[in-house]
Amino acid sequence: MGSLSGKNAVVTGSTSGIGLAYARAFAGAGANVVINGFGAPEDIEKERAKIEQDFKVKAIYSPADMTKPAEIAGMIALGETTFGSVDILVNNAGIQFVSPVEEFPIEKWDQIIAINLSSAFHGIRAVVPGMKKRGWGRIINTASAHSLVASPFKSAYVSAKHGIAGLTKTVALEVATHKITCNCISPGYVWTPLVEKQIPDTMKARSLTREQVINDVLLAAQPTKEFVTSEQVASLALFLCSDDAAQITGTNLSIDGGWTAA
Ligand code: NAD
Repeated sequence: MGSLSGKNAVVTGSTSGIGLAYARAFAGAGANVVINGFGAPEDIEKERAKIEQDFKVKAIYSPADMTKPAEIAGMIALGETTFGSVDILVNNAGIQFVSPVEEFPIEKWDQIIAINLSSAFHGIRAVVPGMKKRGWGRIINTASAHSLVASPFKSAYVSAKHGIAGLTKTVALEVATHKITCNCISPGYVWTPLVEKQIPDTMKARSLTREQVINDVLLAAQPTKEFVTSEQVASLALFLCSDDAAQITGTNLSIDGGWTAA
């Protein structure tokens, strides 16, 4: 029996990158999981089936779009009706866009605030009543080193991530007496499609080569000079779901190779 046997988790943005690592880590500990996110249907089905096969748990897919509040509530309801409860919610879906503030497309600002910040509010709003009723819950938000410090050309992302840190603290205080914890995890650069995709725009915005972006922009911030791995982030989330972490709430946990120590 895994440490999360009998528990059910929803992980937003888990068709890829860090989210997929969270889903696999929870499933590895015995939880059933709802995966969510975009991608080619056959790729998503492959990952879903692989979770069930590898870990002998149930995995279902919700196509909820994190810009749509009703679909987010529907995703939580799907988890509750299929599994009987949602005990763990990880708000992880996120996108990036890199541009000088005066040229930042208004629709990109709105989209980043919706996916990277407001979706967490909608998910938390939907999941808290059931967690309170059952007297147990874990809410984990993927923030970022950019919840603590800024980088130029990422106005929407940095604003959303600072917002997530504030939302985390507020919710932690509200649910503190219900054995529900709410924390955020703030990774530095993790090698995922999200990081890979922003390299061309950063090359353009800063007039740099690909190698210069990787070494002088991305890893320049990280004193260890190594990328964080998705699995390392997922291990921290797994710890936050344990009984040993019951008194850890309202925190912002950095996993950033020393970035925000500087
Ligand atoms: P990724 O691009 O690999 O994954 C993002 C996930 O979000 C995908 O599953 C994608 O389909 C999903 N998604 C995007 N828009 C969506 C929408 N409208 N509705 C539903 N799902 C949607 O990125 P990642 O690097 O794994 O990022 C995951 C989280 O980690 C994000 O919140 C990101 O800001 C954060 N983060 C990443 C890094 C990094 O270096 N990769 C660092 C710090 C924080």
